[in-house]
Amino acid sequence: DHKVFLEKSGPPGFGTASDLLGKLTITTCSLSQPESAPDSGTKMYFYENRLKTFEGWPFDEDCTCTPENMAKAGFIHTPSDNCPDIAMCFFCLKELEGWEPDDDPEKEHKSHSPSCHFISLKKTVEELTVEEFFKLQKERHKFVIKKKCNDAITLYEEAAKLKRADIVKTAMGEE
Ligand SMILES: [Zn+2]
Repeated sequence: DHKVFLEKSGPPGFGTASDLLGKLTITTCSLSQPESAPDSGTKMYFYENRLKTFEGWPFDEDCTCTPENMAKAGFIHTPSDNCPDIAMCFFCLKELEGWEPDDDPEKEHKSHSPSCHFISLKKTVEELTVEEFFKLQKERHKFVIKKKCNDAITLYEEAAKLKRADIVKTAMGEE
Protein backbone atom coordinates (compact mmCIF):
# COMPACT_ATOMS: atom_id res chain seq x y z
CA ASP A 1 0.00 0.00 0.00
CA HIS A 2 1.64 3.17 -1.24
CA LYS A 3 0.11 5.52 1.33
CA VAL A 4 1.36 3.51 4.30
CA PHE A 5 4.79 3.37 2.75
CA LEU A 6 4.91 7.17 2.44
CA GLU A 7 3.86 7.70 6.05
CA LYS A 8 6.47 5.32 7.30
CA SER A 9 9.31 6.74 5.29
CA GLY A 10 8.63 10.32 6.42
CA PRO A 11 9.14 13.48 4.39
CA PRO A 12 11.48 13.19 1.39
CA GLY A 13 15.09 13.92 2.14
CA PHE A 14 15.03 12.58 5.68
CA GLY A 15 16.64 9.19 5.93
CA THR A 16 17.68 7.35 9.06
CA ALA A 17 20.81 8.25 10.97
CA SER A 18 22.58 5.24 9.52
CA ASP A 19 21.92 6.45 5.93
CA LEU A 20 23.34 9.78 6.95
CA LEU A 21 26.35 8.18 8.63
CA GLY A 22 27.13 6.38 5.38
CA LYS A 23 27.11 9.68 3.51
CA LEU A 24 29.15 11.50 6.15
CA THR A 25 31.74 8.73 6.20
CA ILE A 26 32.27 9.09 2.46
CA THR A 27 32.73 12.85 2.91
CA THR A 28 35.23 12.26 5.70
CA CYS A 29 37.29 9.82 3.62
CA SER A 30 37.56 12.34 0.80
CA LEU A 31 38.97 14.91 3.23
CA SER A 32 41.80 12.44 4.01
CA GLN A 33 42.11 13.26 7.72
CA PRO A 34 44.25 10.87 9.75
CA GLU A 35 42.02 8.05 10.99
CA SER A 36 43.31 8.20 14.54
CA ALA A 37 42.45 11.88 15.06
CA PRO A 38 39.76 12.09 17.74
CA ASP A 39 37.60 14.39 15.63
CA SER A 40 38.04 12.56 12.33
CA GLY A 41 34.41 12.43 11.30
CA THR A 42 31.96 9.71 12.15
CA LYS A 43 33.78 6.50 11.21
CA MET A 44 34.13 5.29 14.79
CA TYR A 45 30.38 5.41 15.40
CA PHE A 46 30.43 2.02 13.66
CA TYR A 47 31.14 -1.02 15.81
CA GLU A 48 33.05 -2.80 12.99
CA ASN A 49 35.47 0.11 12.59
CA ARG A 50 36.15 0.21 16.32
CA LEU A 51 36.65 -3.56 16.41
CA LYS A 52 39.28 -3.33 13.64
CA THR A 53 41.49 -1.16 15.88
CA PHE A 54 41.92 -3.99 18.40
CA GLU A 55 44.60 -5.84 16.48
CA GLY A 56 47.26 -6.99 18.96
CA TRP A 57 44.98 -6.37 21.98
CA PRO A 58 46.41 -8.53 24.80
CA PHE A 59 43.05 -9.99 25.99
CA ASP A 60 41.18 -12.75 24.14
CA GLU A 61 38.32 -15.29 24.41
CA ASP A 62 38.80 -16.26 28.08
CA CYS A 63 38.63 -12.64 29.22
CA THR A 64 35.73 -10.26 29.79
CA CYS A 65 37.48 -7.37 28.04
CA THR A 66 37.70 -9.03 24.64
CA PRO A 67 38.07 -6.83 21.53
CA GLU A 68 34.34 -7.43 20.83
CA ASN A 69 33.22 -6.26 24.28
CA MET A 70 35.62 -3.32 24.19
CA ALA A 71 34.33 -2.18 20.79
CA LYS A 72 30.72 -2.67 21.90
CA ALA A 73 31.37 -0.35 24.86
CA GLY A 74 32.62 2.39 22.51
CA PHE A 75 36.35 1.88 22.91
CA ILE A 76 39.05 2.04 20.26
CA HIS A 77 42.56 0.66 20.80
CA THR A 78 45.17 3.44 21.04
CA PRO A 79 48.40 1.68 22.10
CA SER A 80 51.71 3.46 22.67
CA ASP A 81 55.23 1.97 22.77
CA ASN A 82 55.25 1.29 26.52
CA CYS A 83 51.50 0.75 27.02
CA PRO A 84 49.98 -1.87 24.71
CA ASP A 85 46.62 -1.84 26.51
CA ILE A 86 45.44 1.76 26.25
CA ALA A 87 41.87 2.10 25.00
CA MET A 88 39.96 5.33 24.43
CA CYS A 89 36.26 5.99 24.06
CA PHE A 90 35.75 7.41 20.55
CA PHE A 91 33.01 9.65 21.96
CA CYS A 92 34.11 11.12 25.31
CA LEU A 93 37.83 10.49 24.54
CA LYS A 94 38.39 9.01 28.01
CA GLU A 95 41.55 6.89 27.97
CA LEU A 96 41.83 3.84 30.20
CA GLU A 97 44.84 1.58 30.70
CA GLY A 98 45.87 -1.21 33.08
CA TRP A 99 43.04 -3.52 32.01
CA GLU A 100 42.50 -6.79 33.91
CA PRO A 101 41.10 -9.89 32.16
CA ASP A 102 37.89 -9.73 34.25
CA ASP A 103 37.19 -6.03 33.66
CA ASP A 104 33.80 -5.38 32.11
CA PRO A 105 34.37 -2.66 29.46
CA GLU A 106 30.84 -1.26 29.77
CA LYS A 107 31.02 -0.99 33.57
CA GLU A 108 34.51 0.51 33.46
CA HIS A 109 33.40 3.05 30.88
CA LYS A 110 30.36 4.10 32.94
CA SER A 111 32.30 4.39 36.18
CA HIS A 112 35.24 6.36 34.74
CA SER A 113 33.20 8.58 32.43
CA PRO A 114 29.65 8.89 33.78
CA SER A 115 28.92 11.92 31.55
CA CYS A 116 29.58 10.04 28.29
CA HIS A 117 26.45 10.16 26.14
CA PHE A 118 27.46 7.18 24.02
CA ILE A 119 27.68 4.66 26.86
CA SER A 120 24.26 5.76 28.16
CA LEU A 121 22.54 5.45 24.75
CA LYS A 122 19.34 3.44 24.92
CA LYS A 123 19.42 2.64 21.17
CA THR A 124 22.09 1.54 18.74
CA VAL A 125 23.58 4.30 16.58
CA GLU A 126 21.82 2.81 13.54
CA GLU A 127 18.43 3.25 15.24
CA LEU A 128 18.86 6.97 15.95
CA THR A 129 16.91 9.57 14.00
CA VAL A 130 18.88 12.22 12.14
CA GLU A 131 17.95 14.78 14.79
CA GLU A 132 19.08 12.52 17.63
CA PHE A 133 22.30 11.83 15.79
CA PHE A 134 23.09 15.54 15.32
CA LYS A 135 22.43 16.21 19.00
CA LEU A 136 24.79 13.40 19.88
CA GLN A 137 27.45 14.66 17.48
CA LYS A 138 27.20 18.12 19.07
CA GLU A 139 27.90 16.59 22.49
CA ARG A 140 30.85 14.70 21.04
CA HIS A 141 32.31 17.94 19.72
CA LYS A 142 32.23 19.39 23.24
CA PHE A 143 34.41 16.49 24.42
CA VAL A 144 36.77 17.02 21.46
CA ILE A 145 37.10 20.75 22.17
CA LYS A 146 37.63 20.16 25.89
CA LYS A 147 40.40 17.66 25.17
CA LYS A 148 42.10 19.99 22.67
CA CYS A 149 42.05 22.82 25.23
CA ASN A 150 43.47 20.61 27.97
CA ASP A 151 46.21 19.34 25.65
CA ALA A 152 47.09 22.92 24.69
CA ILE A 153 47.21 23.98 28.37
CA THR A 154 49.51 21.05 29.20
CA LEU A 155 51.85 21.95 26.33
CA TYR A 156 51.88 25.60 27.39
CA GLU A 157 52.63 24.74 31.02
CA GLU A 158 55.49 22.47 29.99
CA ALA A 159 56.93 25.17 27.75
CA ALA A 160 56.56 27.75 30.55
CA LYS A 161 58.38 25.46 32.99
CA LEU A 162 61.32 25.09 30.58
CA LYS A 163 61.44 28.81 29.93
CA ARG A 164 61.39 29.57 33.65
CA ALA A 165 64.29 27.17 34.24
CA ASP A 166 66.15 28.90 31.41
CA ILE A 167 65.59 32.35 32.90
CA VAL A 168 66.75 31.20 36.34
CA LYS A 169 69.87 29.66 34.82
CA THR A 170 70.70 32.83 32.91
CA ALA A 171 70.11 35.01 35.97
CA MET A 172 72.36 32.84 38.15
CA GLY A 173 75.08 32.92 35.49
CA GLU A 174 74.99 36.69 35.34
CA GLU A 175 75.38 37.19 39.08
ZN1 LIG B 1 32.76 7.54 26.46
